[in-house]
Amino acid sequence: MPNVTPIAALSDNYIWWLHHPSTQKNLVVDPSTAPEVIATLTQAGQHLDAILITHHHWDHTSGISELLEHYGPIPVYGPGASVAEVSHPLCAGTHAIAGFGDITVLAIPGHTLDHLAYYQAPYVFCGDTLFSGGCGRLFEGTPAQMYHSLAQLMALPDETYVCCAHEYTLSNLTFALTVEPQNHALQNYQAWCQQQRQRQLPTLPSTLAKEKAINPFLRCDSVDVVSSLQQRDPKLSQDIVERFALLRQWKDNF
Ligand SMILES: [Zn+2]
Repeated sequence: MPNVTPIAALSDNYIWWLHHPSTQKNLVVDPSTAPEVIATLTQAGQHLDAILITHHHWDHTSGISELLEHYGPIPVYGPGASVAEVSHPLCAGTHAIAGFGDITVLAIPGHTLDHLAYYQAPYVFCGDTLFSGGCGRLFEGTPAQMYHSLAQLMALPDETYVCCAHEYTLSNLTFALTVEPQNHALQNYQAWCQQQRQRQLPTLPSTLAKEKAINPFLRCDSVDVVSSLQQRDPKLSQDIVERFALLRQWKDNF
């Protein structure tokens, strides 16, 4: 099992650093910038051995070139068609990554069409698809694609640590509490997240069990979420994807 550490970058990005103790290999997921990665690994006396990319947005890829200049031609795994620096294109399935063992790749379109998630128990790196208390905006995909992508993530074990690419939790929870003001797990979680942020600590990783209890986008069939949606649209559809789309639209205009 790898040791996993979030490296804060830009205004609210996390670059996830994985260190495998048995092989002493290191990889990072979605390097938005290089200096934070180089400084963190150098301080720990570590070398970077591979890069994983979840999707093509600049704030997930902009550090790749500088890292390759610094560490040499290390492999860059990710969506091959949309990210020029990817040397090892991946698609859905299980792939062996040298020094890291098998990693399961999930194709999770919605935020973008090329979006991938990486799962190695007990961690999932889900980029901008699932956030704590929220989900990514639909820049390229349809609500149906996003809903099914979130369903793929929800099918992972409940104890999975959810490693999202942004510290959006508190602002997501403000919306979540508007949708579900009576959700006690959500109220308690907000108090804990506020403490974390006051201490300048991450609220991540979350867990799937936690997200299933507090994230409205994973709770489109719960009584309270349905009742809030019904107040906005008295003719609310029975279709779960249409309900999800309405919730996403509500958040977009929140
Ligand atoms: Zn993105």
